[in-house]
Amino acid sequence: MGIYEDLNVRTLINAKGPSTRVSGGYLAPEVLAAMAKAGSACVDMAELQAAASLTIADITGAEAGIVTSGAAAGLLVGTAACVAGLDPVKMARLPDTRGMKNEVVMIRSQRNFYDHAVRTVGVRIREVGLPDRFAGAGVRDAEGWEIAGAITDKTAAVVYVAGASSRPALEDVVRVAHQREVPVIVDAAAQLPPTSNLRAFIEAGADLVCFSGGKAIGGPQGSGILCGRRDLIMSAILQMLDLDIEWEQWWPPARLIDKDRLAGVPQHGIGRACKVGKETIVGLLVALKRFAAEGDENRRLRWHWMVSRLADWTGGEIVDGRVPKLVIKGTMEDCIALQQGEPAVQVDSAAAAQGMLFINPMCLREEDIEPLCARLKELGL
Ligand SMILES: *Cc1c(COP(=O)(O)O)cnc(C)c1O
Repeated sequence: MGIYEDLNVRTLINAKGPSTRVSGGYLAPEVLAAMAKAGSACVDMAELQAAASLTIADITGAEAGIVTSGAAAGLLVGTAACVAGLDPVKMARLPDTRGMKNEVVMIRSQRNFYDHAVRTVGVRIREVGLPDRFAGAGVRDAEGWEIAGAITDKTAAVVYVAGASSRPALEDVVRVAHQREVPVIVDAAAQLPPTSNLRAFIEAGADLVCFSGGKAIGGPQGSGILCGRRDLIMSAILQMLDLDIEWEQWWPPARLIDKDRLAGVPQHGIGRACKVGKETIVGLLVALKRFAAEGDENRRLRWHWMVSRLADWTGGEIVDGRVPKLVIKGTMEDCIALQQGEPAVQVDSAAAAQGMLFINPMCLREEDIEPLCARLKELGL
C-alpha cells in the first residue's frame, strides 16, 4: 500500500461494506488491469458510451444504458432527461425550469438526501403519503391513488426508491404514472445482489433505473449505471458528454444518439459536471460482467466463508440476508475505538444503539481476517 504511505494517509480494514465515505471496496485484478489498458489509448467518448450501452442493455434487459459517475449522477442526468427530452433549448436552460415540466413526485417515506441530485436539475419535489407506519400510528404508506392525485401537467417524472420496505409495489406506481404518460425513475443504487435485480425494475416497467457501480458490482468507486428507455438515455448522455463540436463535424453513434431527432448540437449540459473518464467506463463494464457471471450462490458462499472464519474467532452470530453478516455485541464507543485504533477498522454501526455491531464481508479480503480478529479481541469484543 505504498501509494497511501507516500501520501501519509492511513489505510483501514473495511468491515462496513462498500460505503463511499470509506472509499468502497477493492477492485478485482481484472478490473484494475482493464482500467490501466483503457488509460493507454484515446477514443471518442460517445462511441465508448455506445459500446457500454450494448453491454448494459444485454445485462439489464433495458433498451439502452450509459455509465455514469455514480447512482446519484444517474438520478441527476435521468431527471434532466425527463425534464428536457430531446430539446437542446431546454437542455441549455437547466436548472432554470420555468415553463417546463418541473415537478417530480416522490413518496414521502422515500425522501432521502440523495434526492439532492434530483433537485439539482431545478425541479420541485411534490411529496405524497404520510408514512405513519414508521411512527407506529398506522399501517399503510402512500398508495397508487395518492400518486395519481399528485400528477399534473407539470409532472416530469415519478422517482421511486427501491427497497425491501418500499410501498406501493413498483408495478402499481408504473401503472398510475404511465396512465398519465409520466416516466418512472428508479433509484436502485444498493439493490444488488440479487443479480436478478439488474433486470427486475426494467421488467416491472421502470423507464430509467440507476445502480451504483462502486457497491456490490465491484466497479470503480466513482461509477454507476443508468439504463432504460432509448430516448431518455439519449437525452441523458447528451447532457453529460462534452459537445464542444460543430454540427457538420459531429457523427455520434446512431444507436445511442440519433442526430436526425435533434435541432442542433446541445452545449455542455447540466450533467457535464458528472463526467466519467474512459478508465471508469471500461472498469465498470468489466466489473459488471464479472458480477453477473459470478452468480448469487457463488457470491453468497464467498461472503459466508469470510464471516464463518470470523465467527470461529469471535464467537459472534451469523445473520443471513442478501449479504450474510456477523453480529457481535458492541457499542458506539467500541466503534469509535476501532476507528481510531491501529490498524483502523470500520464496522457497520447502524445498530450500535441496540448494543450490536455488524461485520460486513463485502469489502474484506482473506488477509484482513487475522488483524481484524486481533483488534476485536484487544477490545474484548
Ligand atoms: C448509495 C446510494 C446512492 C448513491 O450512489 P453513488 O453510486 O454513491 O452515487 C443513491 N441512492 C441510494 C438509495 C443509495 O444507497
